[in-house]
Amino acid sequence: MATVQSFKYALILISSLILNLFSANVFLRIRWEQSWTKMAATEAETVASISCSGHGRAFLDGLVVNGKPICECNACFAGPDCSDFLSDCAVDADSGDPTFLEPFWEQHAASSAIVMAGWHRMSYEFNDGSLISEELKTHIRRVHDIVGNAVTDGRFIIFGAGATQLLNAAVRAISPEGSSSPEKVVASTPYYPVYKEQTEFLNSKDYKFSGDTSLWKSSAIDSSSSQNFIEFVTSPNNPDGQLKKAVLRGPSVKTIHDLAYYWPHFTAIPAPADEDLTIFTLSKLTGHAGSRFGWAIIKDEAVYQRMLTYMSLSTYGVSRETQLRVLKLLKVVIQGKGREMYEFGYKTMKTRWDQLSKSVSLSKRFSVQDLEPHYCSFSGKVKKSSPAFAWLKCERQEDKHCYEVLKAAHITGRDGSLFGAESRYVRLSMVRSQDNFDLLLQRIEKLVTEEYASKSSMAPSVPRENKHTALNHLHRICWIKPAVQPISKNLASGKVIAAILNVRVARDVVSIAGVVVGTDAGSDECEGYFMRVRVGIDITKPFCRGRYIVLRSGEENWVNFKHKQLPNVCHSCGCLTHHDKDCLNGLRRKGEAKTVNQEFGSWLRANTPNLAKKSVVRVTGYKEEIKEDAATCQSPDKDDVDEGDKQVLSGSRVNSRMFVTDCGAGDEQFN
Ligand code: PMP
Repeated sequence: MATVQSFKYALILISSLILNLFSANVFLRIRWEQSWTKMAATEAETVASISCSGHGRAFLDGLVVNGKPICECNACFAGPDCSDFLSDCAVDADSGDPTFLEPFWEQHAASSAIVMAGWHRMSYEFNDGSLISEELKTHIRRVHDIVGNAVTDGRFIIFGAGATQLLNAAVRAISPEGSSSPEKVVASTPYYPVYKEQTEFLNSKDYKFSGDTSLWKSSAIDSSSSQNFIEFVTSPNNPDGQLKKAVLRGPSVKTIHDLAYYWPHFTAIPAPADEDLTIFTLSKLTGHAGSRFGWAIIKDEAVYQRMLTYMSLSTYGVSRETQLRVLKLLKVVIQGKGREMYEFGYKTMKTRWDQLSKSVSLSKRFSVQDLEPHYCSFSGKVKKSSPAFAWLKCERQEDKHCYEVLKAAHITGRDGSLFGAESRYVRLSMVRSQDNFDLLLQRIEKLVTEEYASKSSMAPSVPRENKHTALNHLHRICWIKPAVQPISKNLASGKVIAAILNVRVARDVVSIAGVVVGTDAGSDECEGYFMRVRVGIDITKPFCRGRYIVLRSGEENWVNFKHKQLPNVCHSCGCLTHHDKDCLNGLRRKGEAKTVNQEFGSWLRANTPNLAKKSVVRVTGYKEEIKEDAATCQSPDKDDVDEGDKQVLSGSRVNSRMFVTDCGAGDEQFN
């Protein structure tokens, strides 16, 4: 009996041991499985947490000192944490590196991160023998369906190492081999330089670069001609942002539509592209230029097969690591009906374009392209321009080499001659980091300010007609008598005093009142208790009295603007073109036009501060202003201001750049 009992105990003990060993094994396996992902995550988060003052970034595969990754600073910033601004440094507006989207990906760090095992897709091929991920292809179709910028149903899709590789694959695939005369590869001036450079470098006997399309219009429709053409159509165009259509017609013409910028950040999307061959790139969709990923959408199967051959012979497909990363990124893009990234991208690019084009509009020496608003089927609204590049022209006879003119002002652009245009033109990239754009804008503003300083005139003259810049939106004009100054002379110079501590912030906040053409502080990093910002003001619109800002703490503040050297201003409507008694606005309200009802008053004026005595001018706050000026001033009601119209400040740095409609240029009809 005892032996049976001991046998039972031994059995229980052994079973328990086996069970424990099994559980421990499972537990250890889970631990082990978790640990490598955790280790990878810890490594990634450690490097991401290195502070580079917002002017740089440390990378896992970047520079390492004493075994630790260090900051790689944005251009014109230096020091261990990138906090030193190099004020004489030339701003690089040459490269089209789309890092403007970096803040969006920072905000989506968790949803866009991937962890890749050491054994991830080591094979040359996917299980089905192909070189491309079917899942990624499905996601690409979904992205196009949401934006509505390309028809993908019944089309073939092929991946490439960036659009750059696909451009040549496409030319190769549509040029017949061994034809008696090579195909003529053409594009409309100004064109993306790579079409020419790549075609010439690869030096094929089957196709040759043959310049501007306008040279070949008649040959293309001449049926007796034996010449064949391959036309590159870039829409929106790099460098000038225009939406383009094919120029050449006829049976001898094939087209490649390069739609790298046909995304809501850069343009309205009037309709889905339904072409024989279109090329897109991740670099301009999500900003991940370094991932080297592009795709082509192809109608004809024979062309698709030839492109597949090109890809398998040149690279044997796109890296599987890249495909995994792109898939993850596109999942974020698609989230929330795919609006968030486009809204961020469009707002950023539109703000940049507004600022740069407004500054240039005050100049007689420089001009930029005029872009028309278009209806956008994606947003369901008419959309104002938000191009990737400014196509700047030097207008003076003697400034034949615009690139050199800008270089002397510490701006490096890309010479117009590379785009097949005159050297009077320079392409300025606006898609780089915010630091880069801020510096570019500052340098352009300096050039414009110098233009007026050299004419010993405080006031910039009337800007050139540029019907799409905010300065010429006259639909918000004040009522005026015909005898008063003509509407076309709608610009005056004013000075605004803002009690804000940082020049960049002051410029951003004050930009709502007009076109900022300079400040009286040295560099953008300069800080002080008050500063003056010089702005060009549309005098047909009411003077801007101030704006709301929201601090990162969530606290709201009203910033008063005081105008220096203000001539007579109508206290009824705030316009400069007439006096109170001539104001139709006032007359319409007849008896109501008493001082107490007037929205503008003498408080708009600023006293001239005596800088030599280092006196501090204190600008009264919103609440004090109400108390002091209760008799003359009707400050805007807080509730009247749209959430979207407040400017958010983080410490002394602007986070969002949205405008108060009270002072805006009538932008409400667009988005
Ligand atoms: N086409 C155009 C019009 C471009 O501007 C660019 C990039 N600047 C490309 C193609 C190449 O794109 P990727 O970065 O994908 O090679």
